[in-house]
Amino acid sequence: MKPKLLVVSGPSGVGKGTLLKRVFTESGLPLTMSVSATTRKPRPGEINGVHYQFLSEEEFEKKRNTGEFLECFEVFGKGTWYGTLRYTVEQELAAGKWVVLEIDVQGARAVKDQFPDAVLLFIEPKDADVLKERLLGRGTETEDAMQQRLATALEELQHAHEFEYRIINDDLEIAVKQFIDIIKSKS
Ligand code: 5GP
Repeated sequence: MKPKLLVVSGPSGVGKGTLLKRVFTESGLPLTMSVSATTRKPRPGEINGVHYQFLSEEEFEKKRNTGEFLECFEVFGKGTWYGTLRYTVEQELAAGKWVVLEIDVQGARAVKDQFPDAVLLFIEPKDADVLKERLLGRGTETEDAMQQRLATALEELQHAHEFEYRIINDDLEIAVKQFIDIIKSKS
């Protein structure tokens, strides 16, 4: 079985995390999540090296300049950087793992350019109202950050058509099954 790179995008608040957790436990495939780097501050309960590598702006910039990122972008307007570390991805692929990147639309494009075999999946909500409710109900961000997330989320929805596979995360059971069926068809 050839190791695969899976890129999962979709707006904040669409439930990618919950969906991916189920896919990880139920697919039976050797999936591993790539830990991105970010300049965002950790949320309560987030662990450095597990959820993200939390870096200062200087540290992030240094890695950017030395080409350590496979891709990196400012995701929510100015100032918050996220990036995929090239070394981790290559190491896991070499170990035979299927590497899952949960990254934004810009990142997905950049990965596809470098890894044309990467499988791109877009997770979308039933409609934009569901997304708004979920995002605003989260309560983990300041009002400004929330509005910026919402604007980015609505913008991201406009790019769903660029993805090979689209999954509507309305009924979680159905979404999990669709996701697993798609990636199994690639093995
Ligand atoms: P959060 O701040 O909620 O953890 O992440 C927000 C969004 O940032 C994610 O939904 C994802 O689209 C994006 N993101 C996370 N890591 C990366 C990364 O390494 N590269 C890019 N381009 N986007 C990322």
